[in-house]
Amino acid sequence: MILMNDQFITRGEAHIDIEDRGYQFGDGIYEVVRVYDGKPFRFDDHLIRFERSAKELSLSLPLSSEEIKLKITQLIEMNNLQNGIVYFQTTRGVATRNHAFPTDSTSVLTAYTKEMNRPYEKLQKGIKIVTIEDIRWLRCDIKSLNLLGNIMAKQYAVDHQAYEAVQIRDNIVTEGSSSNFFIVKDGKILTHPANNFILKGITRLVIEKIADKIGIPFVEKEFNLKQVYQADEAFVSSTTMEIMPINQINDKTITNSPGSITKALQEEFEKLIKLN
Ligand code: PMP
Repeated sequence: MILMNDQFITRGEAHIDIEDRGYQFGDGIYEVVRVYDGKPFRFDDHLIRFERSAKELSLSLPLSSEEIKLKITQLIEMNNLQNGIVYFQTTRGVATRNHAFPTDSTSVLTAYTKEMNRPYEKLQKGIKIVTIEDIRWLRCDIKSLNLLGNIMAKQYAVDHQAYEAVQIRDNIVTEGSSSNFFIVKDGKILTHPANNFILKGITRLVIEKIADKIGIPFVEKEFNLKQVYQADEAFVSSTTMEIMPINQINDKTITNSPGSITKALQEEFEKLIKLN
């Protein structure tokens, strides 16, 4: 089953209009929530970000956060999802094509579940990343359906036998195509400040809390590629990648990956999953 507004229907029954603004303009927002052992992880944080994205785009949600939470929880149970994700999005709805916001459209919420195993092997061994120019717009803090810059970056990674592409804007390393990026230097975790140039990841938020708990400084500060090459450790984070160590950056191999701080974060993350 899938959720469309407040109705549970089959995927085959779902109908998307050709003038839906999500389809025509990418005029909408989305979230991906992890489900571990049948339970959504950090659901409230995702809903807060969803509401914020909607507000930034003057998009009114068809259901309240509480209703979305209830319906999606029911969907997870209905589909008997144990380990996987829930994807949900809202578009501004159907209107005669015109760039300006329609005054009379009704936004459309859809949600579906998908089984997905945790990336155990990569979490242990690490991944290769490549770097690429950040060509995205200047509101990367909004989790919008417009993902052309992100998908082009990810394709660049695939074309270069890498798992993720980390983007660089004006010499500053921003974030991955679908992840936040971190380095560890002299016992401190460094990551790009949460401003308009990156998406403020929910996993990033969890990492910040873990770092505070285990006494590792979490520093939001700009850094360049040279500093990345000089770092002791590097990792990316996202809802699906969790805390993913990096063992190669472009042509440079990082030995001893995951490093001790990345490992400590991973261990604490594991505890949070168990407590979820
Ligand atoms: N940045 C971008 C561009 C992303 O697409 C994602 C994945 N949603 C993230 C960061 C990580 O966010 P989260 O931890 O909330 O999945």
